Amino acid sequence: MRVVIDKDSGFCFGVVHAIEAAEKALREEGHLFCLGDIVHNNEEVRRLEEKGLQIIDEETFDKLRDARVLIRAHGEPPRTYAKAEQNRVELIDATCQVVLKLQRDIAASYRRMKAADGQVVIYGKQGHAEVVGLLGQTCQEGIVVSSVGDLDKVDFHRPAVLYSQTTQSVEEYTKIIAEMRSRFQAVGLETLFEYHDTICRRVANRARQIQEFAVQYEAVIFVSGEKSSNGLYLFDLCRQINPRSYFVSHLGQLDDIPFEGISSVGICGATSTPMWLMQRVAEVLAAK
Ligand code: SF4
Repeated sequence: MRVVIDKDSGFCFGVVHAIEAAEKALREEGHLFCLGDIVHNNEEVRRLEEKGLQIIDEETFDKLRDARVLIRAHGEPPRTYAKAEQNRVELIDATCQVVLKLQRDIAASYRRMKAADGQVVIYGKQGHAEVVGLLGQTCQEGIVVSSVGDLDKVDFHRPAVLYSQTTQSVEEYTKIIAEMRSRFQAVGLETLFEYHDTICRRVANRARQIQEFAVQYEAVIFVSGEKSSNGLYLFDLCRQINPRSYFVSHLGQLDDIPFEGISSVGICGATSTPMWLMQRVAEVLAAK
């Protein structure tokens, strides 16, 4: 069986930066708190936990005093920074630069919209860590939409500025922009609508690349954590182009895949999938 790993899969620079920051702090002190999973991949989280990383939730974070806490690439709302200052918690801020810029842009738009009785609309997954951080820039007043079907939440007689979570689908975002534009046009108020393309290039480019990769093999093993939005999105694209695509989050799941008669397998993954895990998958397949 020919087994090939996609060279473009694996950690994006935002995740690499967060993991490097964690490993540096762990080398210095042997222990570090991280607010939420550092990356949506249980295998990588487990590897870092063995080095002393301790994942905590918001409730535990609120009780910490005089500690060091890593902020992951997804970023955090302003509340987290205020709480840290109040409780003498030192933050190692590994918010991805792309997310940081988006947070600042949304904060500026929120102030502008507030003055104009307008709305900030965010295309994203409700409750996702990045979206929580983005909503925090709007004092929770932003409107989160996850598809065209959610657009009834928007008032098309008031100004609106639209942004996207960085890891969302370009296709769905394009549909949302078109639908919002058409609803504003229908009431003759198209000048009230403004949108920004804030899908991370690392994610947007992956859509085309992953389909070009997936179509070349008889079967595709897509390696990703189940909580990764980017993983679920990219897997869906793989499956559209190659119906024999299988989602795998740990090695044990390889036993359930029918490999009989398959002579070539492509291995790929999300921006949160570690290369070492895809290599382990390749080793297991090579031994079959
Ligand atoms: S996907 Fe893009 S925005 Fe998100 S962490 Fe990676 S580089 Fe940053």
